[in-house]
Amino acid sequence: ERLVGAAGDREEQAVEAALRPKDLGEFIGQEKVREQLDLVLRAARARGATADHVLLSGAPGLGKTTLSMIIAAEMEAPIRITSGPAIQHAGDLAAILSSLQEGEVLFLDEIHRMSRPAEEMLYMAMEDFRVDVIVGKGPGATAIPLELPPFTLVGATTRAGLLPPPLRDRFGFTAHMEFYEPAELERVIHRSAHLLDVEIDTDGAAEIAGRSRGTPRIANRLLRRVRDYAQVKADGVIDQAISGAALAVYEVDSRGLDRLDRGVLEALLKLFGGGPVGLSTLAVAVGEERETVEEVAEPFLVREGLLARTPRGRVATPAAWAHLGLTPPRSSTG
Ligand code: ATP
Repeated sequence: ERLVGAAGDREEQAVEAALRPKDLGEFIGQEKVREQLDLVLRAARARGATADHVLLSGAPGLGKTTLSMIIAAEMEAPIRITSGPAIQHAGDLAAILSSLQEGEVLFLDEIHRMSRPAEEMLYMAMEDFRVDVIVGKGPGATAIPLELPPFTLVGATTRAGLLPPPLRDRFGFTAHMEFYEPAELERVIHRSAHLLDVEIDTDGAAEIAGRSRGTPRIANRLLRRVRDYAQVKADGVIDQAISGAALAVYEVDSRGLDRLDRGVLEALLKLFGGGPVGLSTLAVAVGEERETVEEVAEPFLVREGLLARTPRGRVATPAAWAHLGLTPPRSSTG
């Protein structure tokens, strides 16, 4: 099982649901987004209106699904959850839209992965609360206009730049979610520990927070692994030593690098002297797909300042040598 990525099995999904903050007050961090969203929702409530469409962008696990549920809860509205890849035909979208209740929140995850025809149907639905349902085929096909109740679309995407401008422009409010600060992740961990009935001290939480890659989902994931370890190998509170020992077993290092990340860095340093080396060559050396190295390992390594993507290939930074406790060859130090 990977450290990064979407919520995994049923068990994890159930735990995530149990750990989700239920209102804006409980939602930790993202101060600006919270403040702005609070105004948007209050104003809509005061007008007795449906809230504007909201676009949330940010990396996986930062709380986009959670925020969409909070929007629905704050508006006392029901919520429907679906995703771009689940909507392949415009008809799929028409079916969902035409069954919405007035004021309902429609959460569309990975909105950038919707099909083109569905996307075009969505433009009209967002703007005029209307869709044209095409009946029949070929020259005899007719468009039947269908009125929709007002609803709030909450779209989520990893990068707002992936959306075509006409879609992006139809959102009344766009929020970019940032990675969380360690102190915020500590609060997430203490809150989750409390809900899971796990005892953890300040240093234990700080140790986990530092390895959580700025991401609440990973913080919760690591907390559960440390809890398992503590249950078997120790009893009582989770402290720094237990957190450190447990995460060493799961091969999550002091900066949050997992086995794949370390494998990539090690190959880059030991086999290629720190680079530059091409992505494909590097991927073969670690026995992974090119895409896995590029999309799973590299974004975090780049963000951490351990690896740089240059026109000539991947290059390790001095920090990478230091992190793996290796000495750079003479030629690359000068
Ligand atoms: P993805 O869309 O990639 O699946 P996401 O951005 O929708 O991810 P969520 O599913 O909302 O992420 O959050 C993942 C987990 O992190 C949930 O268990 C949630 O409880 C927790 N979490 C996220 N943000 C916060 C927060 N601000 N405060 C407390 N817990 C949070």
